[in-house]
Amino acid sequence: MSGFYFDYAATTPLDPHVRDAMLPWLDGVSGNVSARHTPVGMKAYLAFEEAKLEMTRALRAEEGTLIFTSGATEANNMLLSWASQSRRVKGVATTAIEHQSVLAPLEKVASAGKDINYLPLFQCGAVKRQAFEALCASGAFNLASIHWVNNEIGVCQPIAELAAIAHKYNVLLHVDMSQALGRVPLNLSELDVDFATFSAHKAYGPQGIGALYIRKEHQPSFRPMLQGGSQQQGLRAGTIPIALVVGFAKACQLAQENVLTECAHTEKLHKIFRDRLDQAQISYGINGHDYAAENEQWRVPHILNLHLKGVRFDVLQELLPEYSFSAGSACHQEGVTQSHVLTALGYSTDESLRLSFGRFTTEQDMMLLVDRLKQAVSVAQEMSILGEVFYG
Ligand code: PMP
Repeated sequence: MSGFYFDYAATTPLDPHVRDAMLPWLDGVSGNVSARHTPVGMKAYLAFEEAKLEMTRALRAEEGTLIFTSGATEANNMLLSWASQSRRVKGVATTAIEHQSVLAPLEKVASAGKDINYLPLFQCGAVKRQAFEALCASGAFNLASIHWVNNEIGVCQPIAELAAIAHKYNVLLHVDMSQALGRVPLNLSELDVDFATFSAHKAYGPQGIGALYIRKEHQPSFRPMLQGGSQQQGLRAGTIPIALVVGFAKACQLAQENVLTECAHTEKLHKIFRDRLDQAQISYGINGHDYAAENEQWRVPHILNLHLKGVRFDVLQELLPEYSFSAGSACHQEGVTQSHVLTALGYSTDESLRLSFGRFTTEQDMMLLVDRLKQAVSVAQEMSILGEVFYG
């Protein structure tokens, strides 16, 4: 595993156990889950049912509540496409720091004549609970779509509390859990949410698969986004990608089994990194919630968004070409480069660096990174000072 990879929030390496589980389904004919009249189809169908059950159990969900999609983007679009048409949904509440796969489809919800309410946030990105309660009570919306863990700054929303508030006022709650799986303890039988989004490649699974959890009671009124076959209870048409489902189920099982060990591992790496930064006298600010300074854990330890004064991200990238890390979210990089998350919270965008690490990152990797950063930061800061001298 590459010790230079610090972009786990963009995508995680495939876990070798996941790869091994998938391999038999990548060789030759994998069979169509819907073609049960053929021996290979029946084999694929049985494997699908087993993987779905395994994943349902790992998430402590009720059977028949998981619908596989091509990723979290599709799952978020599917939920909001339903919301734009559903008579049950009159208005939606969300935050300005959601992933674009929530923010963009909300425009469709707005054009269906429904109000979109952006919730007040603390500067660290956490939703203000009292304000959320007041807005729920006002009846301005009856669906809230709030992510659990932010992919750019790692802030954690108090989902259990928000769910309790939402349901007190008969507001449905959708939670994008793409960055939460394997990072925070997750139990769908205890967590009172109506809909949830997952993505395999954020949790050491394969790219190209995600899921939308839809609580049983909402399924009869749910409308599919994709039209076609009647796969997956008629809620998502399209041939089941069996290798991906098997891989996702394995990744999910590993994520759930190892969540506490992984939290401890990344927390230790986080601490080593920051202690080493202090020793190297690199001064920095934290964009988001600095949980080290407070008791409440409002932040995952494996996503660190740093503000390095006088250090432009593009300069740093040129000075450290062997390293993978991000300025904001990787999804921005082909188009607009400004991070909507940092902008919404009032942080600098071009002097920020997002590091994210995980299962395969070692203490040595963290220490080497600081050593390399120390040289690069001083060069970048010198360049910045020279730039100011020459160009004002
Ligand atoms: N939601 C969040 C919070 C994410 O971080 C991402 C990926 N950056 C997505 C949704 C989209 O996930 P996918 O790549 O599976 O479409």
